[in-house]
Amino acid sequence: MNQNARITDWMEGSRALQRDTIALRRAIHQEPELGLKTPKTLAKVKAALAGLPLRFRSGPSTSGLIAILEGAHPGRTVLLRGDMDALPMPEDTNVDFRSTISGAMHACGHDAHTAMLVSAAKLMCAQRDRLVGRVLFMFQPGEEGWHGARCMIEDGLLDDPAPDAAFAIHIAPNAPAGMLSSKAGPLLASADVIKIEVHGRGGHASMPHQALDPIPIACEIVTALQTLVTRHIDAFDPVVVTIAQIEAGSTNNVIPETARMVGTIRSVSEVARAKVHAGIIRVAENIARAHGAQASVEITTGFPVTVNDPRAVLLAERAITGLLGEQSWQTMQKPIMGAEDFSYVLQRVPGAMLMLGVCPDGQDWHTACPCHSNRMTLNESVLARGVAAHCAIAAHFLAEGLPAG
Ligand SMILES: [Zn+2]
Ligand SMILES: [Zn+2]
Repeated sequence: MNQNARITDWMEGSRALQRDTIALRRAIHQEPELGLKTPKTLAKVKAALAGLPLRFRSGPSTSGLIAILEGAHPGRTVLLRGDMDALPMPEDTNVDFRSTISGAMHACGHDAHTAMLVSAAKLMCAQRDRLVGRVLFMFQPGEEGWHGARCMIEDGLLDDPAPDAAFAIHIAPNAPAGMLSSKAGPLLASADVIKIEVHGRGGHASMPHQALDPIPIACEIVTALQTLVTRHIDAFDPVVVTIAQIEAGSTNNVIPETARMVGTIRSVSEVARAKVHAGIIRVAENIARAHGAQASVEITTGFPVTVNDPRAVLLAERAITGLLGEQSWQTMQKPIMGAEDFSYVLQRVPGAMLMLGVCPDGQDWHTACPCHSNRMTLNESVLARGVAAHCAIAAHFLAEGLPAG
């Protein structure tokens, strides 16, 4: 089969499955589940995959599933990922399949990701006889802050068989419907939480020399952290440090014993991330020490930076422009400061995450309700493109491997 025949097949096949893709997406949307265990969603996925020539692997930490398709001929292994979990928030859309679970909504499009991946699995299973290599379909819960991808990796689910490359597609309401986009290098930021506590000595506000006031020390630390960012971090490797909450004291004439601060750290490289972590501890502890007080710093690490392999992005671009035409691909100019736990997969395996524009009909993509909005809706008509893109990328990789970098 030549390349063109295969390309036509993927789009035709995904259009033929469009009804199923939408029906599954809506069923998942109506019954959103949170966290690392999404049993009802998993049951829907398994029911949709029933009868296909797939082998399954799962682990104890999550309800995640790896569905393995062995091609007729041995070759490379490619992983395609779809996440399954929703967000703890109300849904305020007026679609007739809106969430029936109060306080839970698929506002990040993971319902669509799962449905697209199921349809991609169906299409690729239909091509099994011609397939050289193996496809792993990774159905992952716990993306929204639960480190679901890391848990599945720790359960050994990416070890045997181990993928040679990995791809994921995330929907984007704030991009033209049907447009696929990505960029080489960092695509999404890391997101860490800082907590700083300054310990002084309480006393009378009129006699500060008999106390050790933690408040001016805390203020000095806030200011110094901004100097840390501008003087120690490469301006072309950006970092954001925001102290978003300060808490100290109870009234006008009492010096409190402690001051507490909470904030966020965003970075787009692990080098800058490590540097700013060490810098925050150094600055906070030593400013407190200079004043005879003590500061304790706690940094809770969130997801790592999502870094796309340039070769994998080039492969995706070729696969997608071959499938849908040049006008369907856009190279992103800068990363997004949000975070993704597909980053854990990309730390182990070269690959790429792509964005699929899903701006609803009749809306301006600049102002459409974004992911995580209680009013986020998506354009289901373009899900067929996502399905075909998954298949085309996987087929491209199995046939040719990553292009030379
Ligand atoms: Zn999200
Ligand atoms: Zn998401």
